[in-house]
Amino acid sequence: MALYEKSASQLSAMLKNKEISSVELTKSVFERISQVEDKVEAYITLDEENALAKAAEVDKKRAEGAELSPLAGIPIGIKDNISTKGLRTTCASRMLENYVPPFDASVMTKLRAHDIVVTGKLNMDEFAMGSSTENSYFKKTKNPFDLTRIPGGSSGGSAAAVAACEAVMTLGSDTGGSIRQPASYCGVVGLKPTYGAVSRYGLVAFASSLDQIGPLGKTVEDVAMLQTAICGHDKMDATSAYREYPDLAALLNSDVKGLRIGIPDEYFGEGIEDGVKAAVIEAVKELEKQGAVVKHISLPSTDYALSSYYIISSAEASSNLARFDGVKYGFRAEEYDGLVDMYEKTRSQGFGDEVKRRIMLGTFVLSSGFYDAYYKKAKLLQRRISAEFAEAFREVDVIAAPTVPTPAFKIGENTDDPLKMYATDVCTVTVNIAGLPAISVPCMNKAGELPVGLQLIGDKFAEDKLLGAAYAYEKAVGGFRLPNL
Ligand code: GLN
Repeated sequence: MALYEKSASQLSAMLKNKEISSVELTKSVFERISQVEDKVEAYITLDEENALAKAAEVDKKRAEGAELSPLAGIPIGIKDNISTKGLRTTCASRMLENYVPPFDASVMTKLRAHDIVVTGKLNMDEFAMGSSTENSYFKKTKNPFDLTRIPGGSSGGSAAAVAACEAVMTLGSDTGGSIRQPASYCGVVGLKPTYGAVSRYGLVAFASSLDQIGPLGKTVEDVAMLQTAICGHDKMDATSAYREYPDLAALLNSDVKGLRIGIPDEYFGEGIEDGVKAAVIEAVKELEKQGAVVKHISLPSTDYALSSYYIISSAEASSNLARFDGVKYGFRAEEYDGLVDMYEKTRSQGFGDEVKRRIMLGTFVLSSGFYDAYYKKAKLLQRRISAEFAEAFREVDVIAAPTVPTPAFKIGENTDDPLKMYATDVCTVTVNIAGLPAISVPCMNKAGELPVGLQLIGDKFAEDKLLGAAYAYEKAVGGFRLPNL
């Protein structure tokens, strides 16, 4: 098995035992990139030179006997909306095509202290708005299991890179499903952490009250390792939670005896493909076989989740994206006549269609005439959805549902119909609305089939329970499957 195919935990042990060096591993990953990147197109920017220099530095530290993190020397790719000092961060937008941040996001500061090797910046939907990575200004990433299909979005590059072994692990961001949904389509594991567990400082804001950075990896253990490294209180993020976090990888335990799993009937209704339902139910049965207790529950406001999500997220986006005005940083139109014209031309030319649609929708729902009818109602529904989850978690430990209603769709299939595209988020947005953690773990992983994800949703800060259940399931059915590229 080539080095790039191995999981982070396997590689970490090999590095520690000096069976391999980080330079060897990093070269293996870049060799893989040179073989498959033409087909997959997961990256916007590659950073091979700095990656190899960092790998050599880690090898030197190790040779000198330094005490290193389990992540030291592991090649990790970063979604292109996370600020990386000195490395271009575009948000897949023309607006930031040439933007090089002068600072690191807090997650990057943390990961650099763990001595990770940064492979480069991964493709995404522009400003993380989308469900297929087709909204990137630069390129369309392909699903490694079928190059005619989308990898999901908005962290499509992050999921495809893990599946295609173009990075050992990656970071994504999830505002309404953007880590879990592409993880599901690409057959990898993705965790959306509890709101406030991971600092958003340096994450280019889409919808600040919903955004969270989180890990994607080949295995549950890898994701637990990376999550442990990035979480923690940060004074640079006012919504960051004051708490201590355990070592989630060390806590991993596949004992699910007595674990109460809730099945919300609303997540198995119309619009969810039969094959997906069957795969998820089978996965729950596997956990039941291992001693988990399954219970049907109801989350009646699920029907309103999509509308609330698209109102709240667009409202926040319209405000957050006001800063891209051609003055502060980024793109500016070349020809204009005065200040107002400059704003207008810069924003017309700098943003793509989906981003403009969200800004218009957001501005509309916040306008004085419509605020009560839309934004206020969406916020009330947010409270109701959160309350229903809180009620459910009095009776169950985790909730099991599909991550996405169908397997990956064809490139171009939903591009002319935004509402159809939005509908693919129906199983994921509730989690962000309620600020909960959730994981997607592959549950249809047979050769010849497109991947499907099992979504496990937990109560706030119950990442340990989610990871434990996902780990138990993964152990029973087998882990990562390499796509045929
Ligand atoms: N697909 C959703 C949207 O387009 C979620 C995006 C995200 O989580 N960043 O808004």
